[in-house]
Amino acid sequence: MQTLSFDNGDEMPMLGLGTWKSEPGKVYDAVLEALKAGYRHIDCAPIYGNEAEVGEALSDAFDQGLVSRDELWITSKLWNDAHAPEDVRPALKSTLADLQLDYLDLYLMHWPVAIQSGLDMPDAPDHIFSPEELPPATTWAAMEPLVEDGLTRHIGVSNFSAQKLDQLIDAADHLPEMNQVELHPYLQQPDLLDFMNDQGIHATAYSPLGSKDRPEGMKAENEPLLLEDSTIADIATQHDATPAQVLISWALQRGTATIPKSTTPQHIRENLAAAELSLTQEDMNAIEELDRHRRYVPGKIWSMPGSPYTQESLWDEESE
Ligand code: NAP
Repeated sequence: MQTLSFDNGDEMPMLGLGTWKSEPGKVYDAVLEALKAGYRHIDCAPIYGNEAEVGEALSDAFDQGLVSRDELWITSKLWNDAHAPEDVRPALKSTLADLQLDYLDLYLMHWPVAIQSGLDMPDAPDHIFSPEELPPATTWAAMEPLVEDGLTRHIGVSNFSAQKLDQLIDAADHLPEMNQVELHPYLQQPDLLDFMNDQGIHATAYSPLGSKDRPEGMKAENEPLLLEDSTIADIATQHDATPAQVLISWALQRGTATIPKSTTPQHIRENLAAAELSLTQEDMNAIEELDRHRRYVPGKIWSMPGSPYTQESLWDEESE
């Protein structure tokens, strides 16, 4: 398995298992299936509502001798309602208790947006703090000591634009080591990746398969479906592979980590096998042509009417 290297010598397996929308009652089996198949990287978050069940699977895997803690890479995320500095450490400790772990490998600020404490999602715009009221840099300053205290080996962010990363870096003592963002052939974000590369920040590609199981309310009418793209299908046929494998292999060949979600055993194994698939330069060039700036996870809830954020200010880009 290819890995991303960190300054302290740690290596992160580039292909991991996503767990958003992995239902309670299913995620336990999915994590065990993944570990048995050979995954060594699991992507978690408290907002997914299933960390305790992931923790059960990890604990059982250790007890069964399937894998040891130091062979695993576990990522989790700080939810938006715990951005106040005094809430950061308790949030991580709660995640560690649910996952039944002593430390994480990577802890990410899930979004650059803070909301009122105790909320999963905002119901009204005044539940959302403006970046002036509770800046990401203030939250970041409370995340930095978590590394020194051994609660997580690395810290990073998620859903940060180049502009927001730049602002954070200016104020930070500890550089964010990762930015986990939506990346796939319909949203390739080359400028963001160039900026991150210059700064030495790794990228993890989320929703690499187009997130077709996300809530209906997040879907647009007649949206293009990545897994049904004809160029991807043609490349898959040429390699005797599946479209999902082409999408995963493309992410890895770009040098990004990626975390396809699945609770279907056959998909879990198929996705891991994509690490063995090698796309040609011609394939990579054909896929580059597919970019169309399509976000499957635009974070529209953070830009609800009356919010301090618009889609433009959330992503620091022009609206479509
Ligand atoms: P995704 O991985 O792009 O797609 C998941 C969907 O693809 C599910 O419906 C899954 O169904 C299906 N699938 C998986 N493997 C398949 C295969 N081989 N063939 C056909 N269909 C397949 O979507 P995602 O969950 O949005 O993104 C992946 C992970 O990224 C998340 O789970 C989460 O860990 C992370 N994420 C992070 C953020 C963030 O804000 N940081 C946002 C979104 C996602 P089955 O389960 O039936 O296989």
